[in-house]
Amino acid sequence: MTGPKGETSEDRDLPADRAFACPDCDRRWYYDRRRCPDCGRSSADAATVRLETGAVVATSTVETTPPDVRAPNHLALVRFDEVQLIAQAADGELSPGDRVRFDGSHRLRDGRERTDPRLVAIDEP
Ligand SMILES: [Zn+2]
Repeated sequence: MTGPKGETSEDRDLPADRAFACPDCDRRWYYDRRRCPDCGRSSADAATVRLETGAVVATSTVETTPPDVRAPNHLALVRFDEVQLIAQAADGELSPGDRVRFDGSHRLRDGRERTDPRLVAIDEP
């Protein structure tokens, strides 16, 4: 099931905690694209890698969401090395600079069978 506007992320829908990796130059990216942005190799050959630890760049809370998305929807812009992405946060407690990882198993949109992890803070020692 797709959203009313058609979700481009459905094209090759990786789990939320995975990025594409170019087999030639090891460049990584998150959102599906046809070619590696560095060397131009077709992304059809791309491997996937798990994103481990990231840093929050910014956060946002969307109060008015599509009918199949939770409200409020806590989002975070996070950088995992060269990969930058926006993902759902487990709660509204994240702040810029926090270290995060993906955790848990959630249905990010109603009507989807699949579950994905959300961003959670890593407790610093
Ligand atoms: Zn490449």
